[in-house]
Amino acid sequence: MAQAGIHAFVGAATRKIAPRKEWFMLGIVLGNLFPDLDNYAVAIATLTGSDPHGLHRTFTHSVFTVLLVGILFFIVARLQGQSKWFNLGIGLGLGIAMHIVLDLVIWFNGVELLWPFGGWVNFWEGISPPVWFGKLLNPAEFLFFALFLGWLGKTARSQQTDSEALPTLRRWTIAMWIFFLIFTPLAFVMSKGFLTIFGAFYLLALTATFVLTVRMRRTLAQA
Ligand SMILES: [Zn+2]
Repeated sequence: MAQAGIHAFVGAATRKIAPRKEWFMLGIVLGNLFPDLDNYAVAIATLTGSDPHGLHRTFTHSVFTVLLVGILFFIVARLQGQSKWFNLGIGLGLGIAMHIVLDLVIWFNGVELLWPFGGWVNFWEGISPPVWFGKLLNPAEFLFFALFLGWLGKTARSQQTDSEALPTLRRWTIAMWIFFLIFTPLAFVMSKGFLTIFGAFYLLALTATFVLTVRMRRTLAQA
């Protein structure tokens, strides 16, 4: 897994070359974040005692998801008669595709590229990180959320965009730093139950970043 915040940064980095179309950059960044929302399915399965195996890096990480999102938003754009929905759909599709490629390259896991028809691809077969590094990967999620939200805030202030959302953004940025500082030692000292408590905060942080990205869409469009 690349950290979700890294995915968001990679999406935002395309703004220099992306066409300036309404909601397009929003789609790219949300598309880069979207696939890891499959962790909700993992959480629900775990809480209900079902088997969470095969829920992560499958149905949201498939080329068919990219196609489906494209078709869905094409239809919405036609029904609404507004091209911004089409731009959003193209951005989302591209963003999801970028997420999949990045997941394949970094790191230590594969992706079920052709779900539901299989197609598991893993460049990291048989390679696992050192234990201490593996433990750091989870709290590092909060570090990259904090960095991404901090960048959004800095960009918004210099462009004077989305100023009404800045106080909320700032509170969440601070919360991400606090989560990072708390969960880093916990990852090393908790022998049992870490993933449950980490998972709850991770889903909260990912959802907040998703919502804040929507609220900061003018900043993304102009950056
Ligand atoms: Zn992923």
